[in-house]
Amino acid sequence: MTDVALTDPAVPATAPEPLPVAVVGSLSPSRASDFKTCPLLYRFRSIDRLPETPTRAATRGTVVHAVLEHLYDLPAGERTVEQAQADVAPSWEQLLTGEPELAQLFDDDAEGAELTEWLESARQLVANYFTLEDPQRLEPAEREQLVEVVLDGLRLRGYVDRLDVSPAGDLRVVDYKTGSIPREAFEAKALFQMKFYALVLWRTRGVVPRQLRLIYLADSDTLSYQPEADELARFERTLQAIWKAIAHASMTGDFRPSPSRLCDWCSHQALCPAKGGTPPPFPAHALAAASEDRRVATPVGVRVEPEPWPVSRPN
Ligand code: SF4
Repeated sequence: MTDVALTDPAVPATAPEPLPVAVVGSLSPSRASDFKTCPLLYRFRSIDRLPETPTRAATRGTVVHAVLEHLYDLPAGERTVEQAQADVAPSWEQLLTGEPELAQLFDDDAEGAELTEWLESARQLVANYFTLEDPQRLEPAEREQLVEVVLDGLRLRGYVDRLDVSPAGDLRVVDYKTGSIPREAFEAKALFQMKFYALVLWRTRGVVPRQLRLIYLADSDTLSYQPEADELARFERTLQAIWKAIAHASMTGDFRPSPSRLCDWCSHQALCPAKGGTPPPFPAHALAAASEDRRVATPVGVRVEPEPWPVSRPN
C-alpha cells in the first residue's frame, strides 16, 4: 500500500503560528498573600487601589534594599560595611526625590532627631547584613529582577531581591527582610513568597532552585529551605485555586473581611465592616472586567491581556 501524504500540497509545509497564550489574570506574591490573609484587604489594595499611609518601618526597608542593591554595583574589594552604611542617607534622599510624600513621615520631627535615629537604625540593619554574608565573596547573577511566567492563563510575576547561580548551575533565591525572623507557626507564610519565585524560575528555566534563603536583618538570622519539584507543582495548583477564588469574588463583588492580628497594620480599618466601617461601592469597572474574564476564559477564546495588578515588592 502506498503511503498517503497527510499534508495538503496547496498549503506551504511550514509550522503554523502558535496562538497567543490567553491571559486571564495576574498575581504577584504580595497580592496572592493579601487574598489569603483577607479577601477585603486584597480588594482595597488591588481593585479599589486605595492609597496607604507610608510607615517608617516599611520605608526603612525600601532604603536598606536599595543600599544592598547598590553594594553589588561596587567592585568586590570595595564592598565594605563603611561603604554600605555611607550609602544609607543618599539612598533615602533618592527615594524622597521620587516620592516626596514620604517627607510626611517626619512632619512632627522639627529638630530632626527622629530622622537621625531612623537613619542610624537603617545603618545598623546594613551592618547586620555583613555578619551574615561576605559580599566580597559573592557575585550575584541577578538583583531586583522581575521574574514572570504565564501558566494556564495566569500570569505570575514578582521581583526577586537576589539570584545566585553556582558554577554547576544551581540557583539560590535570596530575599532580604528588615523585620524579625518569624516564629515557627508563621514560617509557611514567609516561605509562600519564596515558593512563588521558585515556581516561576522552575517553569521559566527548567531548574528547581536549590535553595530559598530569607535573610532577616533585624535578628541577624536566616531561614533556608530546599524546595522539591512535586511540592512546587502542588503550589502551582494552590495559586490557580487562589486566582479562581479571586475571579469568583470579582464576579459578585463579595470580598469578605477576615479579621486577624494583622488588622493592627491594616491602613483601611476605617472602611472595614469588621471594624465598624463601610467599604466604598464595588467599582463598576471591576465587575465589568470580571464578567469579561468569565466570557473569554474558555478554551476557544483568546483575549487581550488586561492591565495586570500592580506588583509590589515586600520588605
Ligand atoms: S482591618 Fe482586618 S479584616 Fe478589615 S480589611 Fe483590614 S485586614 Fe481585612
